[in-house]
Amino acid sequence: MTCIYLKPGREKSLLRHHLWIFSGAVARIEGPCETGATAEVFSAKGEWLARAGLSPKSQITARVWSFQQDEAVDEALLQSRLYHALQLRRAMGLEFGTAGFRLVASEADLLPGLIVDLYGKTAVIQLLAAAIEPFREQIAQSLMKLLPGLECVYERSDVSIRSREGLELRTGLLAGQEPPELVEFTEANRRFFVDVRHGHKTGFYCDQRDNRSIVGMAAKDKKVLNLFAYTGGFGVAAALGGARKVINVDSSAPALNLAQKNAALNRIDPTIFEFITADAFEYLRKSVRQQEKFDLIVLDPPKFVDSQAALKRGARAYKDIALQAFQLLEKEGRLFTFSCSGLMDDALFQKITADAALDAGADAMIIRRLGQAQDHPVGLYQPEGFYLKGFEILRRN
Ligand code: SAH
Repeated sequence: MTCIYLKPGREKSLLRHHLWIFSGAVARIEGPCETGATAEVFSAKGEWLARAGLSPKSQITARVWSFQQDEAVDEALLQSRLYHALQLRRAMGLEFGTAGFRLVASEADLLPGLIVDLYGKTAVIQLLAAAIEPFREQIAQSLMKLLPGLECVYERSDVSIRSREGLELRTGLLAGQEPPELVEFTEANRRFFVDVRHGHKTGFYCDQRDNRSIVGMAAKDKKVLNLFAYTGGFGVAAALGGARKVINVDSSAPALNLAQKNAALNRIDPTIFEFITADAFEYLRKSVRQQEKFDLIVLDPPKFVDSQAALKRGARAYKDIALQAFQLLEKEGRLFTFSCSGLMDDALFQKITADAALDAGADAMIIRRLGQAQDHPVGLYQPEGFYLKGFEILRRN
């Protein structure tokens, strides 16, 4: 048996049901210290606190599986947590079969380090922590059992955070048959192809589903700039919402190539839908120089802040793009601006956006606060799960 003993007073976060045990809180580990081993966690006084999966090489030494002493960490627990995750998505109106959605959002679904995204009958999983690593096969088999008709479980554990856990990067088929080159799924009134082998993360950003619908509702007759367009998610929503022009900009040619296929899949008039392979910062500067104007701009950049040390630099990048977006925005125009950096909170993101508007001479107001879709829930005791924030902003002058 593996036992983790905490330093005096360091049980507080566990008593608040936070799921991470940081290395600084650990006094000593007794017993086998293998990656992913299930460990019993005790306070300095020897009280049992939790059962957790061990990540000996990570700054997060262990991730809690259970605060109940009689709950074993085994296949039955895994199956029950997957089942509950599915029930929750069903209650949200997300049905397995044709839709694209996040079935498991790691800690929020009490499956630490596990992401499962469903695209139609294809499941794509990521194992992000050592705690979940030993359960790879069981997860794949449990998903096949839980979802009759599931054609495939494909792994995309090619994410750099695995190296911090001492894990190698892995991709490939885990169960079922090899997925096709492009998997098709639906999202509200939209249809998309996803390249589960080469796409970002698991291939698609389901977290923006509701925000895409909101953009669609605001897009009628508008000239739209979709920056950081990836495979065209917001652009397709805008075009289906009746936009008169949509310009999709991304630095990745393969992403825009797929965006083009997605436009065709949704029967979007190719004459209103443009693709520009460019650096967004350069594109913005050039457009400001040329005094271009747009009625609706979407700014959905990649994570600019991935550590405390990068916060200042990241904040400058967010401000830079917002400032130029405000300069391109017509009177009564709308800006949809997002940050998926968990380390940047809502208040800071609002302040940066306000600074940008001020410098651009824009009189503007937030007409809607935006966040990650419901299938990306946040554990009440695990605020780190909240990462995607955004504003719908109306420029008045
Ligand atoms: N809005 C998209 C997701 C965006 S992900 C959706 O709803 O699906 C971020 C995108 O930014 C990626 O496609 C990446 O290729 C692109 N990107 C990253 N850096 C960039 C840069 N400097 N200029 C343009 N695009 C960039």
